[in-house]
Amino acid sequence: MLKENLKNVQKKIAAACEKVGRNPEEVCLIAVSKTKPLENIETLMEEGQMEYGENYVQELCAKYEQVSRPVHWHMIGHLQRNKVKYIIDKTVLIHSVDSVALARQIEKEAAKKDIVADILIQVNIAEEETKFGLSGQEVSSMVMEISSLPHVHIRGLMTSAPFVENPEENRCYFKKLHELFVDIREKNIDNVDMDILSMGMTNDYEIAIEEGATMVRVGTGIFGERNYNK
Ligand SMILES: *Cc1c(COP(=O)(O)O)cnc(C)c1O
Repeated sequence: MLKENLKNVQKKIAAACEKVGRNPEEVCLIAVSKTKPLENIETLMEEGQMEYGENYVQELCAKYEQVSRPVHWHMIGHLQRNKVKYIIDKTVLIHSVDSVALARQIEKEAAKKDIVADILIQVNIAEEETKFGLSGQEVSSMVMEISSLPHVHIRGLMTSAPFVENPEENRCYFKKLHELFVDIREKNIDNVDMDILSMGMTNDYEIAIEEGATMVRVGTGIFGERNYNK
């Protein structure tokens, strides 16, 4: 079932790319494994799926320790400053940087380990009150400020679009984030590479790909519904 789901998602990614003349290799699929057991990850590894997204620091660290072969972990959930130290050398990319204070903490912990941390800036592109992330207007100045941190490397932008019945409703937000992404890229800021645009989840990843996503984060579509009460 899991393997079938994965293949289905891969097919849909390829079809969405084809529709707009993109190369499917430009789109990286992150399997969002939060709340799901390690065995599920082990199963998908057999299919060559190596990118996994987690929201909770404790869960990410536990899976990191237990997995049989190294995979790439993406921190996609809200990150508290006092927890940066636990994940700094376990993740390939932190998607959820939404303040200079958090970036400074990442700088501090990365410097201690003598590594450079790749990060994305999280944007609340639909300006929903309940969501983390910067407003579109705040992003440029924040990117400038964070770019001065030598152990932090901005690689792009991330958003979670609203939950909607019809994913077409989110197209405008994906378009907007893509525009912002290109605008910042064209500024050619030192120590900033705008090459990753992380947007699109189970409900809307095909639309996100049509609008330029280079990373999609799919949980339910691969692992099935989550049960938070276990
Ligand atoms: C849970 C989560 C996802 C995956 O959501 P699905 O709708 O299950 O695909 C993607 N991104 C973030 C930030 C999440 O928290």
